[in-house]
Amino acid sequence: MKAMVLEEYGKPLILREVEIPDFGKDEVLVKVRAAGVCGTDLKIWEGKVPTKTLPLIPGHEIAGEVVAIGENVVDFEVGDEVVISFYIPCGSCSFCRAGRYTICENFEGRMGFERDGGFAEYVAVPQKCLIHKPEKISFIQAAVVPDAIATCYHALVTRARVKDSDVVLMMGGGGGLGLHAIQIAKWLGARVIGVDVSEKKLELMKECGADLVLDANNEYLPDRVFEYTLGRGVNCVVEFVCSESSVEQSFRVLGRGSRLVLVAYSPQVKFDALRAHLFEIDILSTRAAGKQDIEECLKLVLEGKVRPVIGNVIELEELNFGFQMLREGNLKGRLVVKVQN
Ligand SMILES: [Zn+2]
Ligand SMILES: [Zn+2]
Repeated sequence: MKAMVLEEYGKPLILREVEIPDFGKDEVLVKVRAAGVCGTDLKIWEGKVPTKTLPLIPGHEIAGEVVAIGENVVDFEVGDEVVISFYIPCGSCSFCRAGRYTICENFEGRMGFERDGGFAEYVAVPQKCLIHKPEKISFIQAAVVPDAIATCYHALVTRARVKDSDVVLMMGGGGGLGLHAIQIAKWLGARVIGVDVSEKKLELMKECGADLVLDANNEYLPDRVFEYTLGRGVNCVVEFVCSESSVEQSFRVLGRGSRLVLVAYSPQVKFDALRAHLFEIDILSTRAAGKQDIEECLKLVLEGKVRPVIGNVIELEELNFGFQMLREGNLKGRLVVKVQN
């Protein structure tokens, strides 16, 4: 089969002809139809995320079709269309039992990180990672769900519990995740302020339903935000940037009893602990999405509540070019690789 293989960190992936992977008794073989490309793939490519030793086939946002099943597989059969939840939790630790699969104590790995992923024609997947894909959602759209949509759902619904009386500010809301977060917040009934730095991204945020869009380079955020919220500040900031300056700006607009939700992350970020204290600001981190988040998001897409925003669709062989587009930040939504027909 064809696969894009990472053989050396920071060097272009190489198109290789490799063996179709073996699969275990509790696993299936999936013919990859589409795979999303993510900022995390760039971090993996740079060697900044712990993964298995190289060579590695990355790609963790996978939609495809089951073409063979292991002997213990009961819930899926050949021909089923599936979306893959890329975390492989143990299913039995206290966190898994509480539904917090992405902080499992006994991880068995992640597709495209510790195990080969979806930038290949076929991938072996544990049965417990499979989710049935509704027929009406295309493979290209479905590939956007496991991370770009479900991570936002996990952040806004599961972690931050955004409600209809909230004003939510999306810091860096014009990217592949933020554009879906805006739609989810609107579905929850919140008012949304989108912040980004280019005319194109402001336009996209408006199209996704943002009530107010602000250019962080050209406007002084606190003035505009306090005007919009009648002096109260926002109830929630969702950070898709997490740089020193973005977090500083976030703290200037957070109101009393608000929360800061860190979707993006960085090992060192300074924040104003005095203001956090005075206003009782909750700082919430959020890690990817569990299977139940992905299932809910498939329903939202099916019902037309959330529209997958796809910037570009490329072929498997064009993946290095895709990485370059992602690095340059010129995409108008999520990048998806169309792998097989
Ligand atoms: Zn991702
Ligand atoms: Zn577990």
